[in-house]
Amino acid sequence: MRMNQTTTCPRCKTAFEVLDNLFNTVVSCPSCTAQFNPWGYMLFQMAASAQNEYAMDSLVKNEYFFARAVVVRKQAEATSSA
Ligand SMILES: [Zn+2]
Repeated sequence: MRMNQTTTCPRCKTAFEVLDNLFNTVVSCPSCTAQFNPWGYMLFQMAASAQNEYAMDSLVKNEYFFARAVVVRKQAEATSSA
């Protein structure tokens, strides 16, 4: 059974279908004719989204330290104004 894969053009972001057996080759975007490797671009997108999740995760963790830093600073201000 032949399956089509959906890919997104890295240049114009047009989503289009690519035959499964062409997925790991260089294809041309039907919209802007940019040539790219759908498989490579999919791996790139997966890596980018994993990186975003990691960045979000570390941001949430840093928020704890950020909130702590604000509390410490407020206590320091309260002490100095007393
Ligand atoms: Zn395109």
